[in-house]
Amino acid sequence: MRDRPQSFAAFERAKKRIPGGVNSPARAFGAVGGTPPFIARGEGAYLWDIDGNRYIDYVGSWGPMILGHGHPRVTAAIRQALERGTSFGAPTEAETRLAELIAATVPSVEKVRLVNSGTEAVMSALRLARGFTKRDKIVKFAGCYHGHVDNLLVAAGSSAATLGVPTSPGVPLSVAKDTIVLRYNDPQGVRDAFARLPGQISAVIVEPVAGNMGCVPASRDFLQTLRDVTSQDGAVLIFDEVMSGFRVALGGAQELYRIVPDLTTLGKIIGGGLPVGAYGGRAEIMDHILPAGKVFQAGTLSGNPLATAAGIATLEILRETNPYPQLERLSARLIDGLQQGACDAGIPVHVGRVGAMATLFFSKKPVVDWETAAACDTTAFAQFFHAMLDRGVYLPCSQFEALFPSVAHTDEDIEATISAARDGFAELSAAHRG
Ligand SMILES: *Cc1c(COP(=O)(O)O)cnc(C)c1O
Repeated sequence: MRDRPQSFAAFERAKKRIPGGVNSPARAFGAVGGTPPFIARGEGAYLWDIDGNRYIDYVGSWGPMILGHGHPRVTAAIRQALERGTSFGAPTEAETRLAELIAATVPSVEKVRLVNSGTEAVMSALRLARGFTKRDKIVKFAGCYHGHVDNLLVAAGSSAATLGVPTSPGVPLSVAKDTIVLRYNDPQGVRDAFARLPGQISAVIVEPVAGNMGCVPASRDFLQTLRDVTSQDGAVLIFDEVMSGFRVALGGAQELYRIVPDLTTLGKIIGGGLPVGAYGGRAEIMDHILPAGKVFQAGTLSGNPLATAAGIATLEILRETNPYPQLERLSARLIDGLQQGACDAGIPVHVGRVGAMATLFFSKKPVVDWETAAACDTTAFAQFFHAMLDRGVYLPCSQFEALFPSVAHTDEDIEATISAARDGFAELSAAHRG
């Protein structure tokens, strides 16, 4: 059991001036209860909180830190850029370099625009898809998250997946009604939607490996259906690879599944821990963006020199070192160990994993979509989460998030994690018996 009196005080202080004490909601531990550790620093695979506790970190800033915290080459690149100036609002060669690296790596990308977050990338890609197709409707899938874009904070309405309804106050019905929410991994639902609304859907947006309902891989058949149906109808297929890009494979899920979308949104890893997003795709579509075309999109800090330097260094390291086989091995060892530990303690779990993106679902059934994810035992998850935190393992604080091993994690870290989990599972099953 770890004491966190300083974090407790820091959280109380933060809550007075920051809504909920945090600048992004998941950080507040709402789904698991308790006080989040306030972080003092990170190095490699570890975080230290302000009480001096060390944690093995599987959150990795929710995805970006694939090289671990404070990678020397990334830090040096940021430092060098810093000394040349932090923002110019004028073109730099580094932006072209990052665009070249992305285009050379992500199969669908011929041209790319840099923005400042994944949300901004998605918002801009949707506008582009609508401007390009001159249509308004959007298809998304329940359980996929695409940032806090109005159009996508939408759930399926009651009328058989026709009109979407807002999932947040402040999202207008008039915006939500253009979003059609379908079931993930259900090819027939997509065919039906296009049969019902031919020539009206501008874009289908999907996480090709879902990470925001926990890690739920798409079936190849599902993604191939999306490709075929959108091509036939003239709609734009958008792969939201903000999380899966440069993580599940160097070229993202599209490389793994060998399916080429029209547009791809990126973020997280391509900023190397600084705020960056990007959207890219076929030049024919991308050239509709201002000033090449007429679809408006701009940004004072877009292509920021520090963020661009961190992104270039990160992508260069990934391309030079190809850590993906190692990440695959570590990730499999970790999640198999967790699954075995749960199994030995008599706790029903299922695993979703693609490369270094994984979730242990407290579920009796395999998780393939939002319905099966939502049926998980979130109380058991919360108990497990706290048991791990108390043993120095920092997992994502929700059943519906993926954990991320990094290049900095060693076999010893994985073993220590599995051993902590075995204790945690024993505690859980004792609590259930008691
Ligand atoms: C994180 C995420 C986003 C949003 O990115 P932000 O940088 O948080 O705005 C969008 N799509 C997916 C798939 C994500 O995982």
